Amino acid sequence: MGGAGDDGGTIKIMGAGLSGLAAAIILAKSGKEVHVYDIREDSGARFDGDFQGLENWTSEDDFIDELRGWGIDPDEFRVTPFHEVDVIHPDDEITRAWSPEIAFRVVERGTAHHTIDQGLKRQAIAAGATIHYNTKIAPEECQIVAAGPKDTSAIAFGEIFETNHPNHVTFHFNDKLAPGAYAYLIVIEGIGLICTCLWRKQRKSERFLNETIAWYDQHYPDLKRKPIKRVGGKGDFTINQEYTFQGRHYVGEAGGLQDFMWGFGMRYAITSGVFAAKDILGELTYDEEVRKKILPTVKTSVSNRWLMNRVGDRTFKRIAVNWYKDQKKKQDGLPYIANLFRPDWKRKIIYFLFGKRMLKKVTTNDGRVMHRLPFRNERKRDKWEPSEKAVNVGKQWKNVRRGGGTTSFSEEE
Ligand SMILES: Cc1cc2nc3c(=O)[nH]c(=O)nc-3n(C[C@H](O)[C@H](O)[C@H](O)COP(=O)(O)OP(=O)(O)OC[C@H]3O[C@@H](n4cnc5c(N)ncnc54)[C@H](O)[C@@H]3O)c2cc1C
Repeated sequence: MGGAGDDGGTIKIMGAGLSGLAAAIILAKSGKEVHVYDIREDSGARFDGDFQGLENWTSEDDFIDELRGWGIDPDEFRVTPFHEVDVIHPDDEITRAWSPEIAFRVVERGTAHHTIDQGLKRQAIAAGATIHYNTKIAPEECQIVAAGPKDTSAIAFGEIFETNHPNHVTFHFNDKLAPGAYAYLIVIEGIGLICTCLWRKQRKSERFLNETIAWYDQHYPDLKRKPIKRVGGKGDFTINQEYTFQGRHYVGEAGGLQDFMWGFGMRYAITSGVFAAKDILGELTYDEEVRKKILPTVKTSVSNRWLMNRVGDRTFKRIAVNWYKDQKKKQDGLPYIANLFRPDWKRKIIYFLFGKRMLKKVTTNDGRVMHRLPFRNERKRDKWEPSEKAVNVGKQWKNVRRGGGTTSFSEEE
């Protein structure tokens, strides 16, 4: 097949993150000469020890089985499966969502040996790919563009800390702490992360994290946090007119392939990287495969996002209650979430009537046309003064920072 930048059979990939490395593994294993270029010093450097959830609800297939089927070995990085999660309602009631199936898995992002980024990197190198870090390349020279987010549709940021608390995950509906989105707690092997996601742009956004941490200090006193560092970053959600443009395949967040409702983009990133590689190997057509296998759930998430933008804590409460009721009836909490992502006629109508219109048309310098989810403005209810406890959390963090605690993102990101 070939395409832009086709250099006598050499495949060039821009970006050594999840989607770029997944593509590199498949291509190198098939005997292609693969070169991956990344502007950062290492794979995962964008994240620095962040925990992320690999969802198991947008497809009937278990994602780990899918990875093995593609020849990607999940034993190369640490994966912690979860069957349950504390669902925290906006009025602070806590229920437990549970499934006999593995609902999601937690992986770590970053440059440590056990992270998913490094696990994929090792496999790409073992298969024969060459990775050039701290190196720029023009997209026009590449067959696959996997450079991650470019613009900002939403941000997430959190604090990483030491704790003696056993492994645990919460999913927290609260429009004050996490405007338009959700907050969460993840504890894995003595390391915790409290994170908040902002789907509305805020000034002084650190107060949302401080207030969220103060909430957890009060409601999960056994955490006994010892802060280490703060992490975070942006998400870029777009629907593209074409996923293959001038012979280049746009994968992962470089192609806007993201979950518009909640930002679970890792599965889409890896899957799209695999599809792009298979296109180059002549096994499928990337643009078609994205439209068939990825876009239907992405578009459903656009409709869900449109709905989410219209509601607040009252509806979040209703979602949490309905989730619990549905779980009681089915003795399984996973179908409720899976159904939110299954394309149905109602959400298809919402997508065409409203969802699409919420997105902003953008034409890139090279002529690509896409529709981006804009980072929405703050609302009146987002203006509030931090509690005394949150102010103290902020002071505690400042001390940690003075002692060498790092932050992997800036508010301007
Ligand atoms: C704080 C946070 C929490 C998240 N939590 C979750 C979660 O719980 N579950 C989930 O599924 N998803 C989560 N996501 C989303 C997920 O991280 C992304 O969707 C996923 O990493 C996208 O993969 P990618 O390959 O497109 O990009 P990345 O994995 O980010 O890789 C992009 C790579 O391209 C490199 N790059 C950038 N610009 C250039 C350039 N010009 N030239 C060359 N290389 C370049 C970068 O250095 C990076 O290595 C989260 C995102 C953030 C920010």
